[in-house]
Amino acid sequence: MSADALTLPGKQPSKLSLLGLPAANLVEFFENIGEKPYRAKQIMRWFYQRYVTDYAEMTDLSAALRKQLAELTTLSLPPVLKHEHSDDGTRKWLLDVGANQAVETVYIPEPDRGTLCISSQAGCALDCAFCATGHQGFNRNLTSAEILGQVVLASRELAGAKITNVVFMGMGEPLANYRNVLPVVHLLIDDQAFGLSRRRVTISTAGVVPHILKLANDCNVALAVSLHAPTDELRDKLVPINKLHPIAELLDACWKYAEGQASRSITFEYVLLDGVNDSVAHARALVKLLRGRPAKVNLIPFNAFPESEFRCSPQPAIDAFWQTLRNAGLIATVRRPRGDDIAAACGQLAGRVRDRQRVRLGDRVIGA
Ligand code: SAH
Repeated sequence: MSADALTLPGKQPSKLSLLGLPAANLVEFFENIGEKPYRAKQIMRWFYQRYVTDYAEMTDLSAALRKQLAELTTLSLPPVLKHEHSDDGTRKWLLDVGANQAVETVYIPEPDRGTLCISSQAGCALDCAFCATGHQGFNRNLTSAEILGQVVLASRELAGAKITNVVFMGMGEPLANYRNVLPVVHLLIDDQAFGLSRRRVTISTAGVVPHILKLANDCNVALAVSLHAPTDELRDKLVPINKLHPIAELLDACWKYAEGQASRSITFEYVLLDGVNDSVAHARALVKLLRGRPAKVNLIPFNAFPESEFRCSPQPAIDAFWQTLRNAGLIATVRRPRGDDIAAACGQLAGRVRDRQRVRLGDRVIGA
């Protein structure tokens, strides 16, 4: 399909979507139409274990019920506008979410796992200086159906290749769309739905502190935090939400989160930007913040995108940074870029977004 075939505004279905609906609400829905509660389980098995989204195929439901469901509800998945394969096996889907907006989903196969990286918003309002999504601005939150639909769609298209991990590291800030993300997280770990273990579902956040604390109570899946700088002065520039929730407050929330996580640590993401945050002094400052804490560090070589003003740190700088962390006893890994030939690597996801924000958090835009 050509990229021009995007859905026009006003064409989105307005019927209730059962996809992404929390299990309890699904039970309630069936009770309201005079059906037995176990219908919810049946239908969840069709959606999330067989990836079937056409009522006609749901042969253990009566023809009358299937007709009624088709009249009352929708199961539509975001249409695929483009599907790309990288030389390294990474796959990327560009999905039409209506009104000329498109988001991206990426599948990354590794020998011991298959990770699906999903989007939670069309665009992002947080305006991190080095991120392609942030550069495009923010359009809207995705619905639970659109977020979970990415997992259903990829599971179906991958036929056989298994998704063992789901990470909210695609477009958007998941904790800024908490209301729609939480039901998805619950369904990902629900045995009646996808049945992934908590540690295989990761929410990555730039630091929406109140929602980190809320997530700790609601559903403590694995947490990754985009730290990227060891001082407030630098982080204010790179990750502008730091002005609202500075490092000390963010880390405090992280340690509280970790308390509820029985010996699992928080992952701190740190993108290495040449001459900006990649010196040995920066690494030492990072050690001071994290040593003795339930933390591991994931160093991300910067992935360039058109219009980006940064360069990736040279290999010797990456090595020296990593070694400084390791010498201080921190667990640190360097993320290998995947799918960069199809712009599917971290921070390269841009989809198609029309900015609807008047004020963004970063200096570049507020000052504009
Ligand atoms: N909003 C979430 C998810 C973002 S994407 C968050 O901020 O955590 C996942 C990771 O990729 C984040 O750590 C993000 O900061 C990082 N990232 C963004 N742009 C990047 C780029 N161009 N190169 C490398 N990593 C990038």
